[in-house]
Parts: sequence; structure tokens; C-alpha cells
Amino acid sequence: KDFSSDQEVRWCPGCGDYAVLKAVQGFLPDLGLRRENIVFVSGIGCSSRFPYYLDTYGMHSIHGRAPSIATGLATSREDLSVWVVTGDGDALSIGGNHLIHALRRNVNMTILLFNNRIYGLTKGQYSPTSEAGKITKSTPMGSVDHPFNPVSLALGAEASFVARTIDSDRKHLTSVLAAAAAHRGTSLVEIYQNCPIFNDGAFDAIKDRDTKEHAIIPLEHGQPIVFGGGTKGLVRAAHGGVEVAEIGDADGQVSLEQVIVHDAHQQDPTLAFAISRLTDAGYLNRSPIGIFRQVERPTYDDQARGQVDSARKAAPGEQSDRLAALIGGGDTWTVV
Ligand code: SF4
Repeated sequence: KDFSSDQEVRWCPGCGDYAVLKAVQGFLPDLGLRRENIVFVSGIGCSSRFPYYLDTYGMHSIHGRAPSIATGLATSREDLSVWVVTGDGDALSIGGNHLIHALRRNVNMTILLFNNRIYGLTKGQYSPTSEAGKITKSTPMGSVDHPFNPVSLALGAEASFVARTIDSDRKHLTSVLAAAAAHRGTSLVEIYQNCPIFNDGAFDAIKDRDTKEHAIIPLEHGQPIVFGGGTKGLVRAAHGGVEVAEIGDADGQVSLEQVIVHDAHQQDPTLAFAISRLTDAGYLNRSPIGIFRQVERPTYDDQARGQVDSARKAAPGEQSDRLAALIGGGDTWTVV
């Protein structure tokens, strides 16, 4: 069973959302969970139709507020696998505040952020991830907004799992989903998703077979990567940092000082943040893809449940005081 529902899928032909849906439907059985223990919460936008198409529980909720609803679910129901589906407008414009607080709290949930760099549902206005100068229906002379880099934003909020993948690479997408789902805490997965109607080709440089090797900076924990350096083309070091292989149009060797080994498990997010800035100035032609950060730290919901449990176990005389302190009221409470 692949967890597809009987609902007719209503996205435009060729939309990148189909590929992500297929990957998720195919991947969910690997979790070994019953459908009633899986919940997908979405906000508003094209991708937010996602919960209809899965044979799990779900909620097509409030614009930008899916992380907050998911926080309540994850905190009150430890037995649930909680997922959020959101887009660049839903998560980063109206929902920016809710997103960053879920990330910093480290609530147990997996957030799939579909980034097509446009407002699709409302028919093609620029979004918080559209590149500067973008001409859209709402920016006929070009956008004067500076875009968010969602991965940098998540790392700035010290999210414990941050990754980027792309709709057209099913294998990579599935492997990132598996790692995100296995992570305890908030996992943020940015998915580059093509909108063929309003922003077609936004990620062509990364998908194009001829340029793909130039445009993708692959991230794998324990593997060396290279920060550009004095050469024009993008370069990547062979494992061990001894032999340097060039990719691109560079003609010189790269010094070993430019080689770093990617360590996704560093508690300090500084290096992961630096890697997230490798996206080139043009913003569209070069991008790190993979897991930027994957660290353990206490989760909000585990700690909140721990406090409630300790209040339950306290001597009857203390229960009321502790619960009142937890809940913040001055009334008398009884644990049942
Ligand atoms: Fe997909 Fe774009 Fe159509 Fe929305 S408008 S369903 S993102 S192709």
C-alpha cells in the first residue's frame, strides 16, 4: 500500500508537486506506521492540497499557521508522526513567524517547504524567495525585494535538521525524506519545485544534464567540498582531499586550503550557514544540495511532556501548585 488517497489530484499538468507526492506516497510505508498515526498539516497554497492526496489523517489549515497547529499535535500526541507541507509564500511570508519559532523550539515534526519562488495559487506574483529584479504580475518593473534563503533562515534559527533537495531527483528526495523522518526534532526540508505555469525553469541549471555537475554542490557528511576558490568553475575534491578533481571550466589546480570536509553533525551551525551561502550571487545557477545540519538537541514536546509527567507523579499536595505553574493559572487543579 502506498498511502495514496482516492481524491483526484488537482495540480497543473507538469507541476513539480506530483513528483514530490509520488515520492512521499511511496516512502510512507517504510515508516512502518498505521495511517491513523500519520498526520499531514498544510497551510494555504498549491502544495497545501497535499493532505487530500494521502490516505493518512491531515488538515488543510490556516495560512501560515501549519507549524503552530503541528506543534500542538506533536506535543499532545507523542504517538503521531507529524508532517507539515508548506510553500515559500505560506511558510516565509505570512507564516514566517510561526516557522522560525517551530524551528528554534525543535518540535518533533518534519516540514516540507516547497520552494517554487513564485505565488502559484494566486496566479504568479513574486514571493519571498523570488530573485531581485524578477518581473511578475505584481512587479512589472522588477522586484526590489531581497529574497530569503530558506536554508540560511532555518540555520539562523538553529534548526536541528536542515536539508535541501529537488523535485526531479526521486532518489535524492527519498533519501532526504528518510533522514528527515528519522530525525528527532524539527526537520526542515526545502524542496526546489518547478511551477511550469508561472515560473517555469527556475531550477533548470540544476536539472540540466550538461550543467548539473557545475551547478550542484553535493553535500554529504564526511565528504570534502570546496569553497569555489581562485578558479572560475565549481570544483569538488575527491574523498580524502588529496586528489582534486575539477568540474567546470577552471584550468588550474585547487589548493588544499580550499577543501573542507562537510560535518553536518557540528553543534555550532556556523559552518553549515557558511555552506548555505554558497548559492551564487545570481541565486539561480549554483546551489548546495543535501543535508546541511543534523544534530541532536532536546525537543520542545519531549520536555513539555516530561514536565507534565513530573507534575502527575508529584505528591498530591504539590500537584496543584505544579500544574498551576505549568498552565499559568491561579486556580486549583487536580490530576486525574
Ligand atoms: Fe503547480 Fe504552479 Fe500550477 Fe501551482 S500554479 S499547481 S505550483 S504548476
